[in-house]
Amino acid sequence: MKLLFSESIQQLKTLPTREILKLTQGNDIISFAGGLPAEDFFPDKAIQEAFINVFEQGKQSLQYGITEGHTLLREEISKRMLLKGIQANLDQIQITTGSQQAIDLITKVFINRGDTILIENPTYLAALQVFQGYGANVVGVNSDDDGMDLDDLNEKIKHYQPKFIYVTPTFANPTGRVWSSERKQGILQICKQFETILIEDDPYGEIQFDKAADYSSIYSLHSTNDDFNPVLYTSTFSKIVAPALRTGWVIGEQSIIQQITKAKQTADIHSSMIDQQALYFLLKYFDLDQHIITICNEYKKRKDQMTQLLKQYEIPAKWVEPQGGMFLWLTLQDSKINSAELLKKAVQKGVAFVPGTVFYTGEGEKNTIRLNFTYTPLEQMQIGIERLQHVLS
Ligand code: PMP
Repeated sequence: MKLLFSESIQQLKTLPTREILKLTQGNDIISFAGGLPAEDFFPDKAIQEAFINVFEQGKQSLQYGITEGHTLLREEISKRMLLKGIQANLDQIQITTGSQQAIDLITKVFINRGDTILIENPTYLAALQVFQGYGANVVGVNSDDDGMDLDDLNEKIKHYQPKFIYVTPTFANPTGRVWSSERKQGILQICKQFETILIEDDPYGEIQFDKAADYSSIYSLHSTNDDFNPVLYTSTFSKIVAPALRTGWVIGEQSIIQQITKAKQTADIHSSMIDQQALYFLLKYFDLDQHIITICNEYKKRKDQMTQLLKQYEIPAKWVEPQGGMFLWLTLQDSKINSAELLKKAVQKGVAFVPGTVFYTGEGEKNTIRLNFTYTPLEQMQIGIERLQHVLS
């Protein structure tokens, strides 16, 4: 039978990171490829208790819920967000099935085929996939260690009149970058001036190694006296609790959230009520802030160990030391190396990473690689970096 799949699904390629993960499964491969949190630190006992609590509420806990999301959970999120300077009433919060769904629904709400989306280049691969899936024209804005180049952004907004701009200003995936406060203020002003929506994707914002530093979100820089906040902020419990709960949220002006809720209704009616209720009890009875401190301390140790090993094994690359998040972005000294080719050799030698080019729209820098430092325990990490050295020598 001839299967007449839609253009959009045919355009959609499977994620290269998923393919790499498949390659590494069941083999003696140390993988720095996946963006995975450390399993040893999942608060499994507390999550178990939270689920027991849900079932103790009786059979009604198994019923359908409202599309916007479990009200008690949205209240808890609203309280947590206030601590980050983000003011949002319940009508401004939509629970999503991971922040991945937030990206998908926002795109569905705004994008017609051919509309332009501006992005940092490189950026989060699975967001690129979503944008391409909806037939968007995805255009990269020049970016450096402080964030987007605002002159280039200005020009590209005038030229393309994008529907929205997508950024990850705090510990980006894949670069680990944090935007300077000037750039954050700057992009907010530009978005207001040109009436352009800004998607602020913030899954890593709480994974900070320097608690004293200022990691204000762009959303929070909007003064509440101003009329309209052009920022849609999305975050998730995946990195600070566990990704299996598939629970994230998106915050924005009510008029936009209402459209997102409509889009979600047709996608999945609502996110899992059991997971949402469990998260509510977890936030109520478990010290999540203490837990975040614990994982940040451990992830900092792992990041320090990885950078120290890269130096010890004289890996010929440069990088900017990340101050949070989960990734180290390497630029190999030899600009002729194609890291996608290098990966094939690396897998044979028992180590995996993600080649940098997959994170770019258009031609990317081929001699870049992304290493995840949170998943691999300290003992294994040394073996992995030693293998990487063999591949590069
Ligand atoms: N945004 C970015 C930048 C990410 O790296 C990820 C996860 N890798 C997500 C969104 C989606 O996370 P989740 O759906 O698990 O919340």
